[in-house]
Amino acid sequence: MKFADLHLHTNFSDGTWTPEELVLQAQKGGLSCIAVTDHDTVEACERAAAACAAVKMEFIPGAELTAEYEDTELHVLGYFLDARNKKLLAEIAKFQAVRQNRIHEMVARINELGVPLKAESVFALANCKSPGRPHVARAMVKAGLVKSLDEAFERFLKKGRPAWVPKSKISALEAVELVHHAGGLAVMAHPGLNRTDSIIPALVSAGLDGIECFHTKHSTAMSERYLEIADKYHLLVTGGSDCHGFSKGKPLIGTVKLPYEHVQKMKEYRSKETAAPSIATK
Ligand code: AMP
Ligand code: ZN
Ligand code: FE
Ligand code: FE
Repeated sequence: MKFADLHLHTNFSDGTWTPEELVLQAQKGGLSCIAVTDHDTVEACERAAAACAAVKMEFIPGAELTAEYEDTELHVLGYFLDARNKKLLAEIAKFQAVRQNRIHEMVARINELGVPLKAESVFALANCKSPGRPHVARAMVKAGLVKSLDEAFERFLKKGRPAWVPKSKISALEAVELVHHAGGLAVMAHPGLNRTDSIIPALVSAGLDGIECFHTKHSTAMSERYLEIADKYHLLVTGGSDCHGFSKGKPLIGTVKLPYEHVQKMKEYRSKETAAPSIATK
């Protein structure tokens, strides 16, 4: 039986592995197909594709876009993206500028609390264009300002804590449109994490293609619930570990194994869409 992991991060966002290290780990885990879904970037895709080709693993270029719908944050996964699409790259550049400004704002708030974290140390550690809260947390641990990533999130960074800074985000409906514009399939990420079920019908109307039923933080009951929802709205079913490398405990890659038949359905759906956009069924 073949398996895929369609939710993976590299060090082009807040994962700790390079694209090549990630592919090596995927190979060790016996995966036949992977997708890289970094936060607000597709920069790792070219290297990951080359590394996959070298070991004959199937690769799907992807991204995880931070979006919002009526003040609720949700993540929209894009699959089979054209990583050179001009509009996608222009939008990504905007998201990344927002992320970089946000780091300065978070550090300023942390400094106001008397904690001497330097923005440069966060950027040096992140060493990417899509820095985020995990990089701030890691820089704090590295500087000895907190004992653990959890402490950094609990005291400073999680929603409602003093250094939490909201991101200005693309609307979820626009995110779906952007993914389609770049030739991709739009999938709602980890719906069980965001309590976003009420949003699903609006996203479906906007052209949502799939829903991430299997995710590290989904219980069996949650996965079953989203499988039912996928069935109800005729959505593709996806899944992945959301592995960030060695960021916290044991790497998650290989802990969520999506049966390959779901990747097959995604590909069949794409080819039908290309042939006859209006009559495709999932
Ligand atoms: P950002 O995109 O900058 O808001 O950061 C979001 C990322 O932070 C998520 O993808 C998780 O990897 C990570 N994260 C969120 N909450 C926590 C937490 N409580 N502990 C550790 N990591 C977290
Ligand atoms: Zn992340
Ligand atoms: Fe996410
Ligand atoms: Fe993720």
